Amino acid sequence: MSKIEQLRISGQLPSPKGVALAVMEMSRREEATLDEVARVVQTDPALSSRLLRLCNAAANGGRPVASIREAVLRLGMTAVRQLAMGFSLVDQHLQGPCASFDYSAFWSHSLFMAVAGQELGKMVRAASPDELFACGLLAQIGRLALVTVYPAEYAAILAEECHGVALLELERERLGLDHAEVTAVIIADCGFPKALAEPLHFHEQPETAGFSDGSRPCQLTHLFFQARRMADLGLSAVTERHGNISELMLLGSKIGLDATGLGEVFDRVVRIWHEWAELLKIPVGPLPSFDAMANAPVPRPEQETAKGHVRARVLLVEDEPTTRMLTEGVLCHLLGGAVYTAENGQQALSLALQVMPQIVITDWLMPIMDGLEFCRALRATDWGQSMYVIMLTGEETEGKIIEAFEAGVDDYVVKPVNGRALGARMRAALHYVKLLEAWEGDRAQLKEFAAELAISNRRLQHAAMTDVLTGLPNRRAGMAALTRFWNASQRTTQPVAALMIDVDRFKSINDQHGHAVGDQVLQEVARAIQNSARKDDIVSRIGGEEFLLVCHNADARVALLAAERLRRMVKALRIIIAGVEIQITVSIGVASREAGMASEENMLLAADKALYAAKNNGRDRVCLCVQGRTHCP
Ligand code: GH3
Ligand code: MG
Ligand code: MG
Ligand code: MG
Repeated sequence: MSKIEQLRISGQLPSPKGVALAVMEMSRREEATLDEVARVVQTDPALSSRLLRLCNAAANGGRPVASIREAVLRLGMTAVRQLAMGFSLVDQHLQGPCASFDYSAFWSHSLFMAVAGQELGKMVRAASPDELFACGLLAQIGRLALVTVYPAEYAAILAEECHGVALLELERERLGLDHAEVTAVIIADCGFPKALAEPLHFHEQPETAGFSDGSRPCQLTHLFFQARRMADLGLSAVTERHGNISELMLLGSKIGLDATGLGEVFDRVVRIWHEWAELLKIPVGPLPSFDAMANAPVPRPEQETAKGHVRARVLLVEDEPTTRMLTEGVLCHLLGGAVYTAENGQQALSLALQVMPQIVITDWLMPIMDGLEFCRALRATDWGQSMYVIMLTGEETEGKIIEAFEAGVDDYVVKPVNGRALGARMRAALHYVKLLEAWEGDRAQLKEFAAELAISNRRLQHAAMTDVLTGLPNRRAGMAALTRFWNASQRTTQPVAALMIDVDRFKSINDQHGHAVGDQVLQEVARAIQNSARKDDIVSRIGGEEFLLVCHNADARVALLAAERLRRMVKALRIIIAGVEIQITVSIGVASREAGMASEENMLLAADKALYAAKNNGRDRVCLCVQGRTHCP
């Protein structure tokens, strides 16, 4: 028997209790009705309020759901079971036996992933957002299981601070199984469908899944991965945020989100995350907005000793002329370039604003504004945050030095300034400047890259809506326009009409002149129809030699006149290709919205019927269909 089978049989894996268990078992029985499930759910007030919350958040301003029965109906049996399950596990495991496992952080992260999955799901439409929420909540449940069953061993694993694949390997080595397998078993036990369980299983390493590009499992795997990385950012230490943000921008661009769009989604997720955390009693901390995190200055490195030869803008502030000159000399020698100087903090502040130094070396005791005040003033500005500040000190006590660090000083050098000591400190400063420049270049590049990707994805979307031969909107776009116009017409009670246009005996043009010439003729016809249409009407190519013209604010009479004008114009076209003149005609079927029509589909059928009549009446004609009857004037 495998290890995991043993755990499962011994009942040691986390499993739902109470009402959640009842719901789970109940929904497994074929004959269980929604009413029965709703009755059981009702006996658990916490579960009830959470399900209502989920429904009402999704209602998006629509009529709120007040009864559990309705909530269960809306969410569906599957989602209710999964959510009951997830909530029950949160309630049971907010604390546990392993002292070095942060249970709160675990659930906080899982909850973040749940909300992110839900929100991304609304954009990508790969699965029901409620089910994605449940998946996110349980995405790492295997880790909780391992910590619960093997608290001591897992504490030792945690001490190694491994992540990703390394963590999985370490778990297998020490425990004989890893959290991904355990998650899979628990998820399956909870009755999650394979279509969700499999992508969830691979979400930590999407590239190993082997799902074909663009398939639904592939989309879902990436969705979970992205939700996971968003949660990572939400819970990461300040120093790790920049790396996380860069990666998220790249991931976001894959689904057409630029930095702004991504920021909006992220901030929304954070808001919903906080609401849920309160409901589930999971402690979560505050988080700055995405934008604020992305533009925050890079945290200063602790201590750097590596050599760096960078040209840097340096500002030296010193009131005593001799010391100033000597120090300036040392700096010029080190940098091989000029140094800006000021005599007190106030002067230095305005100079700093002008020249934006990367490194500031300031004396402590100065008239007007001393070094400490100057440093505090610098750090209070947006632009002064990332400057590297070195303080020149006399015989200050340790307490004073600490005060300087608290004011935002990065380092200090004891006076009288000795060239070697200052040189060593400057190397660290220059290294910092180099890192900062590299990061800023990276950040700018990433932003640009993400924006480009978002644009190219939008362009792809455009391509999917455009006919290659004629450049007109294609059938899909044409139908979408028809629906849009139809809905607007119902709202405004203005009329709307459809013209179905078909080139007459087009096959014979292909037969006589060849397919390539046929293509050119189609391009000419397309251009002619486009030119004759009003600016706001939509022309699309909906078939080989068939076009659809949707006219807003046009009743049958107006549409008929327009169609007749169009027919004559096409007939008068002189299409000359390779010296040969080709004459063509079109037949047009016209219909407009009538009171009895249920949808745009009916109007389209009527136009089609009229077109058929035009063909039967000798072609090169316009016919109209009214109340189901055709007229060929
Ligand atoms: P009718 O007057 O009854 O409409 O006669 P028709 O020949 O136009 O109608 P039919 O539907 O029989 O044939 C349409 C032809 O259009 C058949 C196909 O070869 C041609 N066709 C469809 N798409 C294209 C295209 O993209 N390029 C070219 N050159 N021909 C096309
Ligand atoms: Mg002084
Ligand atoms: Mg045809
Ligand atoms: Mg035709």
